[in-house]
Amino acid sequence: MDDLIKKTAKDLAVSSKVVALTGAGVSVESGIPPFRGKGGLWEKIDPMEFAHIDAFMRNPAKVWNILIREMKDIVDKARPNDAHIGLARLEKLGILSSIITQNVDGLHQMAGNSDVIEFHGNFAWQKCLACERKIETFRVSLDEIPPKCSCGGILRPDCVFFGEMIPPEELMRSRKASYECDVMLVIGTSALVQPAAYMPVIAKESGALVIEINPESTPLTGSISDYLIKGNAGKIVKEIVTEVEHQMQSRKNA
Ligand code: NAD
Ligand code: ZN
Repeated sequence: MDDLIKKTAKDLAVSSKVVALTGAGVSVESGIPPFRGKGGLWEKIDPMEFAHIDAFMRNPAKVWNILIREMKDIVDKARPNDAHIGLARLEKLGILSSIITQNVDGLHQMAGNSDVIEFHGNFAWQKCLACERKIETFRVSLDEIPPKCSCGGILRPDCVFFGEMIPPEELMRSRKASYECDVMLVIGTSALVQPAAYMPVIAKESGALVIEINPESTPLTGSISDYLIKGNAGKIVKEIVTEVEHQMQSRKNA
């Protein structure tokens, strides 16, 4: 394990363009449960019944009550953990150029990363179904469910539900970043949701080194990714960043 941390740090330090692809796992240590896997939301609720756009349009109050209200409570309180903080540090060191995230919690931006491509939108905003006006989630009162815009239209999270398209601009920028990077860090994603899971394939096919950080293996492990560093994102990313800084310092002193 220590060898893999050292190797990753070395690869990052000499790379000219590093991109990270992150999933729900990167925010688990901030108290936000993932969808799949142990402790995931899908153990409690059926995704197609609550996270599909058709389900929302059919019964917005039900989706607000069961899914969105709980997410709002959790996301309003969440703060970046060592993984987000470590990735922001890698950007400051001039190593990481952008993050493609499937998360909607805004924690990468809160940690200080400046180029975050949000594949599935952002939960920080709600959008009116009638007039498309946006309002910040923390300003939305839950006294009335579903909450409404001042025009009377129903509010929905500015996120991508199942059954909706990935915003074309984000998809294009993600593909470009994946194609151009020479190292891709794939952190805390089960790599089951397309087209996000295809980004490591693009990176690999264009010659990049693909490194996974996850307590579990994924469909990418042993095929698309060069190796998996098994463990929680906070601990592993912190160790990698410490080692990168150590190696940069040693090089300066040499
Ligand atoms: P996922 O829920 O499918 O999988 C989570 C992955 O994280 C798993 O592979 C799991 O092994 C790993 N993991 C668990 N704990 C970890 C830890 N401490 N460190 C590192 N990895 C850990 O997540 P997904 O692939 O991102 O797909 C689910 C979709 O649901 C996303 O596309 C996203 O839009 C949405 N979602 C977002 C949030 C958020 O914004 N924080 C939370 C839940 C779901
Ligand atoms: Zn409105």
